[in-house]
Amino acid sequence: MNLPSTHSFICAPITETHAAAFLATIHEAEQVADAIELRLDYLPAQSLPQLIVELASRIARISKPLIFTFRPREQGGKRDLSLQDRRDFWRGLPPEIVKSIACADFEFDLVESYADEQPPVPWEKVICSWHDFAETPHDLIARYELMAGAPAAVVKIATQANRIGDCLRVFELLEHARGKKPVIALAMGLPGLMTRVLAPARGAVLTFGSLRRGAESAAGQPTVAELRDLYRVKQLSRESEIFGVIGNPVGHSRSPLMHNAALRALNLDGVYLPFEVDDVGSFACDFVHPKTRKSDWNLRGLSVTIPHKLAVIPYLDFVDATARSVGAVNTVAVEGDELHGYNTDVAGAMKPLDEMIDVRGARVAVIGAGGSARAICYGLNRRGAEVTIYARDLKKARPLADEFKTRIAALETFKGEADVVINCSPVGMSGPSVGRSLIKAESLEGVKLVYDLIYTPEETALLGDAERAGCRTLGGLAMLVGQAAEQFRLWTGLEAPVDVMWQAVRTAWL
Ligand code: NAP
Repeated sequence: MNLPSTHSFICAPITETHAAAFLATIHEAEQVADAIELRLDYLPAQSLPQLIVELASRIARISKPLIFTFRPREQGGKRDLSLQDRRDFWRGLPPEIVKSIACADFEFDLVESYADEQPPVPWEKVICSWHDFAETPHDLIARYELMAGAPAAVVKIATQANRIGDCLRVFELLEHARGKKPVIALAMGLPGLMTRVLAPARGAVLTFGSLRRGAESAAGQPTVAELRDLYRVKQLSRESEIFGVIGNPVGHSRSPLMHNAALRALNLDGVYLPFEVDDVGSFACDFVHPKTRKSDWNLRGLSVTIPHKLAVIPYLDFVDATARSVGAVNTVAVEGDELHGYNTDVAGAMKPLDEMIDVRGARVAVIGAGGSARAICYGLNRRGAEVTIYARDLKKARPLADEFKTRIAALETFKGEADVVINCSPVGMSGPSVGRSLIKAESLEGVKLVYDLIYTPEETALLGDAERAGCRTLGGLAMLVGQAAEQFRLWTGLEAPVDVMWQAVRTAWL
């Protein structure tokens, strides 16, 4: 097989549907990827012959190994192609193409059709592939053995991860295939992301990365830039430390941006991944707890977000006093063979506030009575602030007010009688309520500081009103970065590179 000898490399599929764009994109891919998969099934039947002619004339000048793929619709391709259509396609490839390509991806049924004859591409260049877009079956190893029995050089198995536990089967397959026929194994969909990032370090021949968002050849495929620069796939080994955030949904979390940037800045051998977890108990048992985990990896710590901040507690061996008082764990650290739970939301929220104002004895209006209000009320209570919780549903807010000995009032009664206003509601964040504020602009006259926990957008309607009213303002990014920096310290024992994390959290990855 004519692929780079290193196991950690990134292959970019070309998924353009117009011939000119297809050819142009090959050159784009040459700049960033280690190998290029030409998804020829993306081209309509009428453009394909001309494209093959063009490719034949320039293929020798393409600097990266090429994988040719001509996938039928029922196996994830774009064209309705019978077995005979595919056999005719491969048989019709010009010899200069067959000579120059690194690999040809033959679906397993196509491989079987050449049982008694030589295929048009030599076996040493053939990847034998099999896809399951419905699920990750339990018999992946048996499937691998069956496929490995064919004379192709590489086995590729790609399955749909419907839940994160499906990744275990892909890791088991990679373990099984060590020292045997080379394998490409991955689980599609966001729950399968960890396989796309970690499989090369576990012996997979390659992983796929799209050239940009929207150009993916399968669900859950990260971009080449994310694989290379965010997750640093090419630097990872089996010993690399693993961190991540568990939540659901978790796809839009900015924590991977911050933590991966921090790991990179301090040159640490680690990666931070989003884990889309629905059942926190089985994830804790199968992937996290050192005494029970089935995943053979160096997991060191987790961020915990909605809806698992409470649900994770029964699976921990120790919960620190702050997390116990707040009643929520947002950080798990692996300490020896134990799991320890912490709450860094309090420190993250209070540090930037402390830097702006001394809240001892100050009148503080907390808007909302949910999870973030709990962390804020705990921090304010310990600092001796005079807190009033303003909520739309006083019944729901009452337990919080009782616990932290605050006053409580209906939201609409707020008239500005506060030194500090802290918005702990989602009203004003990107989405349907963007541009709205629960606080009337005129009520902000005389307020010294307005703190909005929302961080998308950075400048909320509330903060805009506050600036116009002459108040000092603080946005939610400071808390987001602050709680992450504290997590980083707990996991690594090192001070977090906060400036790097600030910069990263504002980066848009394309
Ligand atoms: P949560 O647990 O769902 O609590 C939200 C609170 O806001 C509840 O008391 C809810 O009242 C109230 N609320 C929601 N919509 C309302 C409306 N239209 N009118 C009046 N009250 C309303 O959410 P959370 O975890 O506390 O998060 C709240 C906000 O803080 C989110 O925007 C989140 O992004 C932000 N946050 C930021 C950070 C950071 O690091 N900067 C960290 C955590 C949270 P009901 O109970 O009556 O629905």
